[in-house]
Amino acid sequence: MRSRTRRSFLALTAAASAPVPAALPAHAAPAADHPSSAARALARLRAGNRRYAALRARHPRQDEERRRTVALSQRPFAVVLGCIDSRVPPELVFDVGLGDLLCVRTAGPSLDEAALGSLQFGVEELGVRLVVVLGHERCGAISATVELARTGTTVPGHLARVVDEIAPAVCSARAAGGDWVENAVRAHVARVGRTLAGDPAFSQAAVVGARFDLDTGRISFSPF
Ligand SMILES: [Zn+2]
Repeated sequence: MRSRTRRSFLALTAAASAPVPAALPAHAAPAADHPSSAARALARLRAGNRRYAALRARHPRQDEERRRTVALSQRPFAVVLGCIDSRVPPELVFDVGLGDLLCVRTAGPSLDEAALGSLQFGVEELGVRLVVVLGHERCGAISATVELARTGTTVPGHLARVVDEIAPAVCSARAAGGDWVENAVRAHVARVGRTLAGDPAFSQAAVVGARFDLDTGRISFSPF
């Protein structure tokens, strides 16, 4: 799978009109402080979020030297599937820098083939060993889907695809009692995480779920 995928990307590269440097590597050799395992990558994300939540963010690896280092190659240490919500930018809430995260952001977040392919690129082509599914408190996409389920109404256009993706978690959370939206957020992250964890394309990576608290800035993790 890896070599076939690489060939397909090389074919795309060759077909592009812009000249591509012959020596452009798929990814750089890891730096000395590069997290060498999923556990170390997760530890770095936890530490970064602790700084962010405590309003002590360092904004690391965002200087001119880092820009030069990642200009021709990248070696992110985690893949994040997160929501489009403007209040949950992964690089900020994990207090990381340029080239640290490969981020895929969709409403919910929701999974489609483009999102799956993008995530797979991070794991298979860039060698990332940690995938984080990042949901968040009071998610608008999930709140809207809950409201649709409550009222029996529908949404127009492309929004329906997002709702269809989130609806199974909303339905499963309905009977749980308590805060329907909060339960659906957790159920949706778990559902997406299980999907990824059971997909052979991600067998080389550890998949963890995460929930961002809008009030405190803290992120809690849960394995699958
Ligand atoms: Zn959201």
